[in-house]
Amino acid sequence: MTKNLNEKFIATPSRTSAIMKRYNIKMKKSLGQNFLVEPQILQKLIEVAEVDDETIVIEIGPGIGALTEFLALSAKRVLAFEIDQRFVNILQETLSPYKNVEVIHQDILKVDFNHQDYHFLHEAKRLVVVANLPYYITTPIIMHLLASQLPFHSLVMMMQKEVAERMTAQVGTKAYNSLTVAIQLQMKSELAFIVPRTVFIPKPNVDSAVLKLTKLEKNPYELDDSEAFQKFVQACFKQRRKTLWNNLKAYYQEIDPGQLEDYFAKVNMEPSRRAETLNLDEFIKLYLVINEKK
Ligand code: SAM
Repeated sequence: MTKNLNEKFIATPSRTSAIMKRYNIKMKKSLGQNFLVEPQILQKLIEVAEVDDETIVIEIGPGIGALTEFLALSAKRVLAFEIDQRFVNILQETLSPYKNVEVIHQDILKVDFNHQDYHFLHEAKRLVVVANLPYYITTPIIMHLLASQLPFHSLVMMMQKEVAERMTAQVGTKAYNSLTVAIQLQMKSELAFIVPRTVFIPKPNVDSAVLKLTKLEKNPYELDDSEAFQKFVQACFKQRRKTLWNNLKAYYQEIDPGQLEDYFAKVNMEPSRRAETLNLDEFIKLYLVINEKK
């Protein structure tokens, strides 16, 4: 007698193992495939993301549908992007009871959210991202989503604990870097909760954490070219142990050192400071004074 796969949540060890066995699936480590098998963690994710029946959710990497099932039960509509064709086939079965889910077989990094197919997302009343990310591309995914100009209310994403800590790092700490600054420019970030490695199949070598990024109600910084600003911040951090002076002298080779010194003086900043001691305001001030004159 075949077991009815719809008896339990997908996110249970027994159901996940049964699906994997039935489809003879071997996980691909290279695609960051670790499946969640703890319904309580998924319930918590839904609560942190405040998914309700007015919410459209973008999920990245549904796998065999553990999280997607929970999203489908609470959201208005779910768009789930999966790179691995094997799972796209499986999801047709595991998610068949849910009519508000669309599985899209695509690499999330190649999705053009400005394409007309995704026009409705730009007009969504409430749009969130909820995902247990493939950890090998956490940063590129976040940068891709932030660059999409989609009107996200928030992004609630599970990732490696160390990475989540870096993204919420405070000024002056070792974890504070150009990514922290890039995120702070648009979003408020908070570490929602820690997830032990024991709730995944297969068990990863690291613990995880859920990061919540919420769109700032009012963005106080209207930069004409935020990409140029990101590059400037990256240059400031290029050699962490070096001073701002040394890093920026190398970055702005076309600027006379005397003039560069004047810019520091204008914003009342010591050139001997290191990038990790600057808060977002200070990065913006220094960037604007240098670039307004160029
Ligand atoms: N959501 C499932 C869960 O929580 O159990 C699976 C999460 S697993 C950590 C990451 C998923 O992302 C895998 O299904 C993997 O195939 C998929 N993935 C990896 N790279 C991807 C990419 N570039 N675009 C879309 N999906 C990707």
